[in-house]
Amino acid sequence: MNTTEPRTVLVTGASSGIGEAVATRLAAAGHHVVAGARRLDRLRELAERTNGNLHPIRLDVTDREDVAAFVEAAHDLTGRVDVLVSNAGVMPLSRLDSLLVDEWDRMVDVNVRGLLHGIAAALPRFTAQRAGHFVTIASIGAHEVVPTSAVYSGTKYAQWAITEGLRQECDPSVRVTTISPGVVTTELADSITEPGAAEAMHAYRAHAIAPDAIARAVAYAVDQPADVDVNEIVIRPTRQR
Ligand code: NDP
Repeated sequence: MNTTEPRTVLVTGASSGIGEAVATRLAAAGHHVVAGARRLDRLRELAERTNGNLHPIRLDVTDREDVAAFVEAAHDLTGRVDVLVSNAGVMPLSRLDSLLVDEWDRMVDVNVRGLLHGIAAALPRFTAQRAGHFVTIASIGAHEVVPTSAVYSGTKYAQWAITEGLRQECDPSVRVTTISPGVVTTELADSITEPGAAEAMHAYRAHAIAPDAIARAVAYAVDQPADVDVNEIVIRPTRQR
């Protein structure tokens, strides 16, 4: 497949932030985008603002059957599945001694199990068609740990490891890319309930970059020729050390 051919791209967590920017950019470039998230109203509004290339589907990535149905629905809609962008994620940062164990569980369920559900759903199809592209939106948190990020970073290290293992194990016809963003202006930090963590994140976000910076990186990886696999892109705001 050459770089100009439209592809069917599935984006999880497309109702806001980075996923919305990826879906918007790729749809504008002529790809068929199947956009999943729980907030279907937001996805429908996004579809209305785009050029008819964006198909909204309600999706909860913590539910394995839901993710399998999402991939099959994309195939039914467009007759192909070329790229899965695993982007859905949550980040309720907190210190471990706060024991916000329900929030730990949610991060593991969405960030780790959600990624695995996507791989389980798409890998057989990619292997059978001898073509496909997994793109994981990990994080700079997949490379470093700071106080309050232990569990979140743990899930992002896990995403990094799973995606790298996938890259090594996959048939060479299947491409695998990890995108690791630094701080980006999105709704991600809104779910932080621990006041100290929220305050620290507020200061951190002063230098955040726009979600489209990450969307451009995804588009770069997706639009490479089939024999070129962009393994990982790390993107920080220039002022983030
Ligand atoms: P947002 O909060 O803006 O977006 C998160 C998206 O994930 C939403 O669309 C949300 O949709 C979706 N989501 C959450 N839970 C589920 C679920 N159970 N099933 C399906 N979708 C779900 O944050 P970002 O855009 O920042 O986050 C996107 C990814 O980027 C995450 O993986 C995050 O870890 C990563 N990242 C973000 C950085 C940043 O600074 N913003 C930095 C590094 C990485 P809905 O609620 O409608 O289901």
